[in-house]
Amino acid sequence: MRKTKSFQSVSRQYFYPELKRCPHCRQRLRLLQGLYLKKTIQTLDGVLWLGGYASHCVNPKCQHRQIHYLSSQLAALSLPGVTYGLDVIVRVGWRRQHDHRTMGEIGQELRSAGIQITDREVERLWDYYRLLLRGLTQIDLAKLREAEKTYGGLIWSADGLQPESGEPQLWVVREVLTRTIVHAEWLSQVDQATLQAFLQPVKDLALKTLATVSDQQRALVKALKATWHKPHQACQSHFLRDAAAPLIEQDRAQMVEIKAKIRGIRAIERKIEAASPQDRSAIIVGTYALAIRQGLRFRSRAPLQLGGVRLYALLDEVTCSIQRCLKKGTMSVWLNC
Ligand SMILES: [Zn+2]
Repeated sequence: MRKTKSFQSVSRQYFYPELKRCPHCRQRLRLLQGLYLKKTIQTLDGVLWLGGYASHCVNPKCQHRQIHYLSSQLAALSLPGVTYGLDVIVRVGWRRQHDHRTMGEIGQELRSAGIQITDREVERLWDYYRLLLRGLTQIDLAKLREAEKTYGGLIWSADGLQPESGEPQLWVVREVLTRTIVHAEWLSQVDQATLQAFLQPVKDLALKTLATVSDQQRALVKALKATWHKPHQACQSHFLRDAAAPLIEQDRAQMVEIKAKIRGIRAIERKIEAASPQDRSAIIVGTYALAIRQGLRFRSRAPLQLGGVRLYALLDEVTCSIQRCLKKGTMSVWLNC
């Protein structure tokens, strides 16, 4: 039986469809009431709870009112039916294929990064990785042709994932309406010519295209437009993520600095563990140590979750609280802290 996982810290993210106008009649799309998709996934940056809204065309004369449009960025985070982020799958694939690590070693690495995963699940992710790079099967192609008929055309989105900085990126093309991965390939450089060559096999499928969706990377937008000559829609959330990238980087650096300053916490925890259960000071210091330990699990996540700032605020609060306790005499100085 599959064990249900429980997570201490989950970041909630909501996604709206990037397409604002119906690709058929160009009327403004309207959001459907309530969330269309809910999912929790584990990523390298922590646990995310994803909520996706969908929109549809309300023009009574439009023949494609039944189509529901979802966020392509939401679809890019994970594969359907998989509760690990695509970044984890790519990390598993890279470690296995490039670094020749065993499943046990990869599992160990992921667990030490805070991901709840068994070696068996790592193997399943390795299978998904291979499926990703396998390309379209005849069944997938038949599904796309069916969708082309039903929806009157298809929408392509593309983006890249980097397993480690300075390494090649795994680029993926998705069909947005069916959430099908159509093509994936490792690219060592990202310029318009390379991206156009990467998109060409998808164009060669000769399926009717309604629009393309992506982040604002100039080379990618140019490549999508040059390949299909169709309307292009930029993802606002992608844009926000890109704009916040330097801030997140700074926040992560601050987090490393703060963590280096509170390295002694394990020694204090050991002393607390060894103290008598009646030792009141040990109980109080233990509560503070627990709060700090939880703070050490904070993560910085694009676009706006600043783990470093949260940790700083927490430590500031803990310091003030300790000072108040010392002043009141509730706690005497103990264990060199
Ligand atoms: Zn319409």
